[in-house]
Amino acid sequence: MLDNDLTKVVSADRAHVWHHLFQHKTLEDKDPRIIVEGKGMRVWDQNGREYLDAVSGGVWTVNVGYGRTTIADAVRDQLVKMNYFAGSVGTVPGAQFAEKLIEKMPGMSRVYYANSGSEANEKAFKMVRQIAHNRYGGKKYKILFRERDYHGTTIATLSACGQPERVVQYGPLTPGFVEVPHCLEYRAQWDVEEYGRRAADAIEEVILREGPETVGAICLEPVTAGGGVITPPEGYWPRVQEICRKYDVLLHIDEVVCGVGRTGEWFGYQHYGIEPDFVTMAKGVASGYAAISCCVTNERVFDMFKENADDPLSHFRDISTFGGCTSGPAAALENLRIIEDEGLLENCTVMGARLLGHLNALKDKYPVIGDVRGKGLFCGAELVADRETKVPLSEKLVASVVAECDKRGVLIGMTNRSLSGFNNTLCLSPALIVTAEEIDKIAQTLDEALATLSV
Ligand code: PMP
Repeated sequence: MLDNDLTKVVSADRAHVWHHLFQHKTLEDKDPRIIVEGKGMRVWDQNGREYLDAVSGGVWTVNVGYGRTTIADAVRDQLVKMNYFAGSVGTVPGAQFAEKLIEKMPGMSRVYYANSGSEANEKAFKMVRQIAHNRYGGKKYKILFRERDYHGTTIATLSACGQPERVVQYGPLTPGFVEVPHCLEYRAQWDVEEYGRRAADAIEEVILREGPETVGAICLEPVTAGGGVITPPEGYWPRVQEICRKYDVLLHIDEVVCGVGRTGEWFGYQHYGIEPDFVTMAKGVASGYAAISCCVTNERVFDMFKENADDPLSHFRDISTFGGCTSGPAAALENLRIIEDEGLLENCTVMGARLLGHLNALKDKYPVIGDVRGKGLFCGAELVADRETKVPLSEKLVASVVAECDKRGVLIGMTNRSLSGFNNTLCLSPALIVTAEEIDKIAQTLDEALATLSV
């Protein structure tokens, strides 16, 4: 594109685009940033500035990196043959991708297509409510969610949101969602030895308080993403599974961030031996090359929608218009092939360990790093003003670290938790193709950025 065209693009953006999660007042004295091109791990802005992207497109999405021509080709070929058909019919890539995906998810069996992570989660919520209606006289309708977890932007998914700053201005919310305590050991809520078990016991306490006959499901992130990159403590997940079985509570794992390789397994839950009833996924499914999300269920859940088949209310009375787009599953199939053929899960594990090693070394060097957490290429460093009291570092200073990295050409992220004070975690999640040299460069840049903090 010519410079002149880009100048027009910047003006058009400034005049007409409303950016996500953004205070537009800040654009009064500077231009918006337009990302013009991407290749592998790198992107370029309108001024030709190059960045090493350590956040996979801002929000943990572009798992296979930028500029993948084979995905573009697969989508193009599919679009000219058959771009779309929705309703109660299937499509060729829809069937092919579902089969491939289920091969990676032993115990699961059905794929319900949608467009965004929020929508996939809404599908699961609706299934839980319908099961309650069909089987339990509408009584077992409540859905538990965890403090600090996030499941989407719609009003129902916000009703299942453990991050108050995303919620408080959008009430009234949808009834029937109940919060359970978080499991972050660094900010322990109980002084006990088996912390993971204790944190999971808190879920049982909520179920007993609400009445097990009213609780239909629990929705949890395997590793909490935007809530602070929270890896679960030892012993947490087995106990969660045990509790779900004990009270016949369906287990919904939100893999919108962790899904499709981000943590070094195909799915985050697979690190912990969990057997879920629902798995929702979005970002990494097609690495941002097409809008696609999936709500995957096991056969037990699926079968519940075949009971009393003569009743017109028995089947899942839900549709997603763009769940009929073939660009999504066509892109997703090729995305999966790339991850497999290029050994990206293995690379994710090795490079994730390297990144975590660097972050731990930086923690030894800088007292401002209170805690380092991560699984695969999904890492976080929680910054504190004081190691003893663990008071979170101010948002301004955390943002200054992000800005210093940006200045040096490396894009990193931070949590967006202004009300709770926990917008103090730096997020690092490069694409699964990242090399050792690039990991070292990210860490070196972070080192320089941390050195600029005068705390
Ligand atoms: N679940 C989790 C864990 C997420 O992080 C997000 C988005 N960041 C969502 C759900 C919602 O996905 P979407 O923005 O595609 O609706």
